[in-house]
Amino acid sequence: MHLNDSITVLKGVGKQRAADLQKLGIVTVGDLLGHYPYRYEDRSQLKPLRDMKEGDTETVTGIIVQAQDIYPRRGLKILRVSIRCADGNAVLVWFNQNHLKNKLQPGLQIVATGKVGKGSLRQISVTDFELIEDEDDLADFQRIVPVYRGTERNSGKQIRKLVVQTMAQEIEGLEEFLPDEHLQKYHLMDYGDAVQQIHFPEEWQQLNRARHRLVFNEFLELTLGLQLHSLIEKKTGIAHVQEESLAAQFFKGLPFGLTNAQKKVILEVKKDMERPVAMKRLVQGDVGSGKTMIAVYALLKAVTGGYQAVMMAPTEILAEQHYLNLKRMLEPLGIEPVLLTGSLTRKERETIYEKISDGTCRIAVGTHALIQKQVQFANLGVVVIDEQHRFGVRQRLALENKGMAPDVLVMTATPIPRSLALTLYGDMDLSIIDELPPGRQSVKTYCMGENKRRDLYRFLGEQIASGYQVYVVCPLVEESEKMDLENATQLADHLAANVFPQYAVGLLHGKMRPQEKAEIMEQFRDNQLQILVSTTVIEVGVDVPNANVMVIENAERFGLAQLHQLRGRVGRGTTQAHCFLISEPKTDEGKRRMQVMVKSTDGFVIAEEDLLLRGAGEVLGTRQHGLPDLKIADLVHDVKILEQSRMLADEITEIGLEQPQYELLRKKAEAIYQRKMDLGE
Ligand code: ADP
Ligand code: MG
Repeated sequence: MHLNDSITVLKGVGKQRAADLQKLGIVTVGDLLGHYPYRYEDRSQLKPLRDMKEGDTETVTGIIVQAQDIYPRRGLKILRVSIRCADGNAVLVWFNQNHLKNKLQPGLQIVATGKVGKGSLRQISVTDFELIEDEDDLADFQRIVPVYRGTERNSGKQIRKLVVQTMAQEIEGLEEFLPDEHLQKYHLMDYGDAVQQIHFPEEWQQLNRARHRLVFNEFLELTLGLQLHSLIEKKTGIAHVQEESLAAQFFKGLPFGLTNAQKKVILEVKKDMERPVAMKRLVQGDVGSGKTMIAVYALLKAVTGGYQAVMMAPTEILAEQHYLNLKRMLEPLGIEPVLLTGSLTRKERETIYEKISDGTCRIAVGTHALIQKQVQFANLGVVVIDEQHRFGVRQRLALENKGMAPDVLVMTATPIPRSLALTLYGDMDLSIIDELPPGRQSVKTYCMGENKRRDLYRFLGEQIASGYQVYVVCPLVEESEKMDLENATQLADHLAANVFPQYAVGLLHGKMRPQEKAEIMEQFRDNQLQILVSTTVIEVGVDVPNANVMVIENAERFGLAQLHQLRGRVGRGTTQAHCFLISEPKTDEGKRRMQVMVKSTDGFVIAEEDLLLRGAGEVLGTRQHGLPDLKIADLVHDVKILEQSRMLADEITEIGLEQPQYELLRKKAEAIYQRKMDLGE
C-alpha cells in the first residue's frame, strides 16, 4: 500500500464512506495518517477510584450494571449509569442525552472519561466514552489511546480502527527522507517511527518526540516549497551598478540624518541589488520607522544603472502620498515620477502607459492599476511593494513578472510576529528597522468610557487651540448594525454643529470616490480641516505630522494590529501625541486587549499578543495571506521548532535541493508549492 493510494483500498471503505471521509480532508491513505489525533487518553495507568479528586478529569472502566433516566426538574434529564469497576462501583452521568440509554446495555464494558463530581467522588460527568465491543478494542485498551475527530457517519473510534488497519500493513512513502547527519544534528526521530508514535505512542515522551518531528517536517516542507519559487528566479537576476551618485545626492539633501537601523537595512539592500541574483527582501518596520527612505534608495539605485523602478501601494491615498513625496524629493535630481491609479481618465492613463513602455518614465508609483496588462515596462529593474500584507502573493508576482527577474523589496508596517514572518515569507530575506527616528515620543494611550466624553472634548478643544489636528476613527458601518454603531456621518455632523462649531470638521469614508477622498486628505494635510472623522480608510501609511491626537470610537471592534496601525497615524512629529480608546469592554479578552494598547507602543509586543489572543488565522486571515493550513504545527507555541527548521532549510538550499539525497524531500516541497499556487495566492 502506498501513501498516495485512495482511501478505498482499506477494508470497509466504499464509495459512500470515502465521500464522508473527504469532509475531513481524507482522500488518500496518507491523508488518513495525516489526520492526527487531537488528544490522547492515558489508559495505561487508570487511577484507583479512591484516589480520584473532585474536579479532576479521569478515565474509568467497568461493566455496566444499570442505566436509568431521571428527571430532577422540567427540562432536565440525567442519564445515570452504574458500573462495576475492578476496585468498586462508580456512577457515570450524562445530561440531556436522548437515545443513549439503549446503547448502554447491562453487561457491556465501557471506558469513560469525565470530571469527577462533587459529593460522591465516584460520580463522573462523562465527556467522552467508548464501549469495548470486541477483542480488537481490548487489544488497544491498556495504553495511551488516540482520540480522533470524526463525522456523524464516521466516528472518531471508527477512524481509529482505520488507522489501526493501515498501520498493520507495509506502507510505502513512510521511508526516511532526511539524511542521517541532519537527523542527528537536529535530534529528530525517524519519520516512519514518528508517524507510528503520533498515532499509537508507547509513552508520553515518545509522543513528544514524534510530534516534534512532524512539526519540524511541516515547517521544513513549507519553507522549501516557498523557496522553490525563488530558486528558479534567483538564477537570473540583475546586478545593479555600484555607483551611488543619485542616492548620495538625495541623502545629502535630506533635512535629517538616517537612523542606524535605516543605514543597516540600506546596506543589506545594496548588497542584494549588486549581486547578480534577484533580491527578495521583506523590510519590516513599525509605523513611522522611515521605510520610505529604504524604498527611495532602491528606486534610485535601479535608475542610476539605467533601469526603471516601480512602487506599488494598496490604496489611492497612499499611492498619491508617495507620489507627491517622491516628486518633491526627486525634483532636485531631475527625476519626475508618474502616478498610475484607477481614477485617472482614459487619456491620462494612456499617456502614462506610453511613458512606461518607451522608457521615458524612470519611476512609476501607483496602486494595483500597475498590474494591468497594458502596463509594459521597457526595462524594469526593481519592484517595491509598500504595505505588503495588503496584497496577495499573486499580485506581488504579477508585478514582478513585468520585468525579467527584477529585484523585489516588500515593506510592511504590520509587525508580523517572527514565527509568522518565517512562514509567510519563507522565500524572503528579512530586514528589520527596529528603531524610530530620534525625537519621537511614544503615543500616550488611554482607555475610557462614555462618562469621560465631555472631558475628552475639552481636551481636544485645547489641543486644537494650540494648533494641532485630531483624527476621530469609527468602525465601519454595516447596514444591519446601523442602530448600535456610532455612525461616522452622524458623529461628524454632531461634532461640527454642537461641539466644535468654531473649527472645520471633515469626513472620510470608504464609500467615497477616490477623488473625493484625496481632496479631503489634502485639506486635512493643509490644516484646512482641524478634525477628520473617518472610517478606517486612513489606516495605512498616511503621514500628517501635525495631527497629534487620535480618538477611536468603539475601540473594542478593532483588532489589536489594526488599533496599532491606527495609532501609528499620530506621534509623527516631535510633540507628545495622545490616543483615546473609547470602549467599555465586557469580556476579559476585551479588557486585556485594551490594556495591551494602553501599556505598550511596541508593535511586536502587540502583534505577539494578538497572535496569542486570536490565533494566526484570525490575525492575518488565512485565505488572503496565503497562510498555510497547518496540520500539527502551532505558530504560537512551536516557534523554536520553526526557527530550527528554517535553519535546516537554509543548509539544504546551500547544499542544493536538487542533490540526489534530497529527492524525496524535494517532491514533498514541490507538492506544497504546487498547492499554494493552485489556491491562487
Ligand atoms: P513608515 O515606516 O511608516 O512608512 P515613513 O517612511 O512614512 O514611515 O516616515 C515617517 C516620517 O518620518 C516621515 O515624515 C519621514 O520623512 C520621517 N523620517 C524618516 N526617516 C527619518 C529620520 N532618519 N529622521 C527623522 N525623520 C525621519
Ligand atoms: Mg510607509
